Amino acid sequence: MRPAILVLNAGSSSVKFLLFAEEAGGLQAVVRGQIEGIRTAPHFIARDGTGKVLAEQTWGEGDRLDHDGAVRHITDFLGELRGELELHAVGHRVVHGGTEYVQPVRLDADVLGALEKYIPLAPLHQPHNLGPIRLLLGQRPQLVQVACFDTAFHATNPEVSRRFAIPAELHEAGVRRYGFHGLSYEYIASVLDRHDAKAAAGRTIILHLGNGSSMCGLEVGRSVASTMGFTALDGLPMGTRCGAIDPGVLLYLMDQRGMDARAIEKLLYNQSGLLGVSGISSDMRKLLGSDDARARLAVDVYTYRIRREMGSLAAALGGVDAIAFTAGIGENSAEIRARICRDAAWLGVELDAAANAQGGPRISTPGSRVNVWVIPTNEELMIARHTQRLAA
Ligand code: ADP
Repeated sequence: MRPAILVLNAGSSSVKFLLFAEEAGGLQAVVRGQIEGIRTAPHFIARDGTGKVLAEQTWGEGDRLDHDGAVRHITDFLGELRGELELHAVGHRVVHGGTEYVQPVRLDADVLGALEKYIPLAPLHQPHNLGPIRLLLGQRPQLVQVACFDTAFHATNPEVSRRFAIPAELHEAGVRRYGFHGLSYEYIASVLDRHDAKAAAGRTIILHLGNGSSMCGLEVGRSVASTMGFTALDGLPMGTRCGAIDPGVLLYLMDQRGMDARAIEKLLYNQSGLLGVSGISSDMRKLLGSDDARARLAVDVYTYRIRREMGSLAAALGGVDAIAFTAGIGENSAEIRARICRDAAWLGVELDAAANAQGGPRISTPGSRVNVWVIPTNEELMIARHTQRLAA
């Protein structure tokens, strides 16, 4: 039997999974899928490595599939399917490792208890990330499980960049900048030297532009600064999240609009960003395809904030040798990449329009002082690699 590693990414309304076979030549993705719409209109789909649909199922409103039910459905499905594969270990994406977990970790009841302490730091994500771990620890205590954290890659950020200018007691209590999307940045950093030795050894800005968007400054492959902070709300505007906002706005909302924490949370996480500005959609494709002025404004605000953060990260790094685009928008939208590169001309970026239209991988001209790349991210593979190493 060939050993296999299952990667689980459990969110607020979905559980995504990817099963890797451990081959001599490396990890091979053999089955991937997800259950979306948990608690509303659950839909399960699984595909093989070529994209062929292996199974699909929907549940009626009365069936009320919850998160545990979704994980059970996935593990039962894989159990029937695996055949010559034997599950060796499970790797989980966990948003917050706090100050303690700056590396992936093997899970047991004690570690799970420690990670539960970080729920107040990421109340919308951490409980969902930990649910499948608890379920599998109960069901299959012998199975090796590993947690990989979105915060961990930024543990190399210098103290000065982690500090908010607030009383020290709050910093000690954990109110500090952590940074997120770390598994994506770690993956890009791990493949950078295949593309560009100068970028791997120098100062590189990575733009992870998806539904969630952030940017990270790397020095010799290590994170030194990022746009996300205490939570994944900070930095760039996103699909539905506001990004950086004057904290005085929150005081105004409380004092003048009588909004409580839950109402403000809903506003800033779910009703802001591209959706909030446009009033049309959180989906970049829809906005780019629209000639409504509000859609154009939302895209303008998005790229303007990126332009500002590019300057901020360039200053933190003391210069830029390379830029890399990744995630849904970064990998697929030549238009957004072109606008960002035009805005970064002052840094020495010169776009090769034809290469950009083709999606790269290199989209800067040979004479460009800054090399610009499009590199697809692979957070699941990063989790599988960590899991394989810790399970050995
Ligand atoms: P998530 O953060 O949920 O993983 P993704 O990385 O998949 O999200 O990114 C989703 C975003 O990518 C959406 O805004 C979507 O419109 C955008 N996107 C995907 N393909 C394109 C494209 N060809 N052009 C513009 N935007 C795109």
